[in-house]
Order: sequence, then structure tokens, then C-alpha cells
Amino acid sequence: MKLPAIDSLDVNGKRVLVRVDFNVPLKAGQVTDDMRIRAALPTIQHLLDRGATVICCSHLGRPKGKVDPQFSLEPAARALADLLQKPVRLTEAANGPPEDLEGMERGDVALLQNLRYDPREEANDPEFSAELAALADVYVCDAFGAVHRAHASVAGVPKLLPSAAGALLHKEVDVLSRLLGGPEQPFVVILGGSKVSDKLGIVKNLLGKADSILIGGAMANTFLAADGHDIGKSRIEAERLDEVKQILAEAKEVGVQIGLPNDVVVATEFAENAPASAVDVDRIPPDSMALDIGPNTVYSFSEWIRVAKTVLWNGPMGVFEWENFAAGTKEVAKLVAEAEAFTVVGGGDSAAALAMFGLEGNVNHLSTGGGASLEFLEGRPLPGLEALNKGGGE
Ligand code: ADP
Ligand code: MG
Repeated sequence: MKLPAIDSLDVNGKRVLVRVDFNVPLKAGQVTDDMRIRAALPTIQHLLDRGATVICCSHLGRPKGKVDPQFSLEPAARALADLLQKPVRLTEAANGPPEDLEGMERGDVALLQNLRYDPREEANDPEFSAELAALADVYVCDAFGAVHRAHASVAGVPKLLPSAAGALLHKEVDVLSRLLGGPEQPFVVILGGSKVSDKLGIVKNLLGKADSILIGGAMANTFLAADGHDIGKSRIEAERLDEVKQILAEAKEVGVQIGLPNDVVVATEFAENAPASAVDVDRIPPDSMALDIGPNTVYSFSEWIRVAKTVLWNGPMGVFEWENFAAGTKEVAKLVAEAEAFTVVGGGDSAAALAMFGLEGNVNHLSTGGGASLEFLEGRPLPGLEALNKGGGE
């Protein structure tokens, strides 16, 4: 996929509306993790260096189309100002009032208030797109985390202004396209996390591309059940069993290895301090549930990861937030970090797990977009990227 680059736009002395993803975690009015803000800096700086006036816009949380101070972008504006070491104006609303942007010059930076305070953002209302487009001369999208949404600021505005993709968006799309376009083999995919239904689309799309797909986390339970194991009280998505059986059969046909756990860490209740023990997948007691992969599974996964030339990891192997069930995720994180391969990690919780184990700097690419990277890897067209490609660009 080829997206229009920033350098194709004339930004000197122009107002540039930059759609960023500042949907950051907040606590007591402070940004607790500024990764997403830092990720947008190269694009913002690039534009400032070329004489632009930068007007950033983003959503934050789910204020449901109403003004709600709890979801104000004010803390993000402060964090951005600190990182840029220059003032950042925050407007009262995404579409105005116009005085808030008056007198802005080259090198100045503003942030529009939460786009989702206005119900027309999520409704992809053309009138709202037009109001946003009227604030600027050109548009740059750098919000990888939002391009899977058909919302006004990502899918509407680029149809109205000369548009391009920012550095972050380019990098995300390049890396993920590389995974889909025949990466260096062996290509090993590790999937986990809570819901099998979230990730079946990826399994299907990667069946013809990956050499092996290793499955842990709660999603493995449904796979184990489909494979005929008795998994006790473990949570499964029963309505997906047939689909999973079909995937297992298809994988066999095309010669892709699906690696399922051969042992799991179980507990009798879903609780942080529940006593944990590792058991073979054929010996899960009826009153127990699987909350992590076991050491033998880590070992068998390690044999794949060690020989891999490309690794994609999405989804924790267990309830890594609780120490008793964190070992599987920690070991897999270490294996991925140490792998002599091109390594890509996607998913908010997987990124959080990497950070928790101090390994976030040890992978080649840490995707900033959860839902967007999943949908991209499923091979689905993303509205924000489609709009940039069709563009209103000159
Ligand atoms: P990501 O954000 O990386 O895509 P998900 O959102 O799909 O990951 O899943 C992350 C969640 O899955 C974590 O909160 C973790 O506790 C949970 N999880 C992983 N394995 C299990 C399991 N065996 N049982 C219950 N929850 C699990
Ligand atoms: Mg998640």
C-alpha cells in the first residue's frame, strides 16, 4: 500500500491539520503514559521545521458526543507542550470558536478539544468534516490507532483537503504490509489475549503466510476445546468452536503448524492470589480454569521463536497482570525480545506487558494501534487509509 507522503505537500506558511492519536491514559488530570504523544512528535516537528502552523486534533475516550471535562485533552496539550518545549493552545471545541486559532503563525502549535465531544465525529457527518477542513489548508493523518474508524476526522477530512500520511502512519503501514507481503521465513505468529473472536480474522488471513501460529492466552482454550481436550472451567467462546475446528483442519491442509499449549497454569477461581499449578492439557481438573500457558508450552514455543526470521506477537499468554499467571507472558516476551528476527508486537495489553518486563526497547516495532493493527492484519480495508489514497489531494 502506497500512501501520499508529507513531502508531497506544500506546508510552508500553511495551516496543517494533523490528526493524531492522543487517546492516552489519564490519572488525576495527568497523562500516565505519553507513548502516543511521543510517537507523533517526528511528524509535528517535521511540519514545524518546514514553516507550518500545526493544528493537532484527536479523540480521547468515549464522551459519547457530549462535552465531558473528564475527557478533556488538556492534560495531553500540557504533555505535548512539555515535549515540544513551546506553548500549545487548546481550543474550546474541535470546530471553534475561530478566535481560539486567531493570530497563529508559522511554528505555532494548537490542539483542538476532543473530537468526540461532537456526535458528528463518530457519525462521520460531512458537515463536521467540512468544519474541520475549514480550519486548515492541508491535512496530515498520523493517527494509526484511528484509521480503522470511519469517523469524520479520519475518513471525511482527507477527501476535502490536500492530504498525506505522517511518519508514524507510514511506518506502521510499512511494517504491517511487510508482514502480509511475504516476510523473511520462518514467519512465526504468536497470538493470545482474551477473546478468540477478536483474533480469528488474523489467524485466517495469516494461514497462507505464516509458517507457524502459536496460540496462548484465553483464546487457546477455545482452540483446545475444538481440538477435543477437556478444559474444565476454562472460559471458551462456544459459538466459535465450529469455526475454530474448520481453521484447524485448514491449517493441516495448507501445512501451517498451529501450536497449542501442551500444559497450562490453572486455578479454581479467577482471582489474583488463587493458588496456581501447572498441569498437562489432558489433566485439567473439572473445577479448574487455565489462566496461563505452562513451562512445557513455553519450551515448545521457544523452539519456533528461536529459528524465526520474522515474529509477530499479539496478545498476552495469560493473565499477566497477576504475578501467579504472568510467567508465560514474561517468558514469551523475553524470547521475542531476544529473537534474531524482525520482531513486531501489536495490541495494547501486549505492549503493556512488554513495558512491565522492561523489554519495550527490544523489539523492532511496537505498534501503537490496537484495533487498527488487528484489522490491517486481517486484510481488511481501513477507512482512514482508503480516504488518504483517494484523497482530496492535488
Ligand atoms: P492485546 O491488547 O494485546 O490485543 P487482548 O486485549 O486481546 O490483548 O487481551 C489481553 C487480556 O487477556 C489481558 O488483560 C489478560 O489478562 C487476558 N488474558 C490472557 N490470558 C487469559 C486467560 N487464560 N484467561 C483470562 N484472561 C486472559
Ligand atoms: Mg487489549
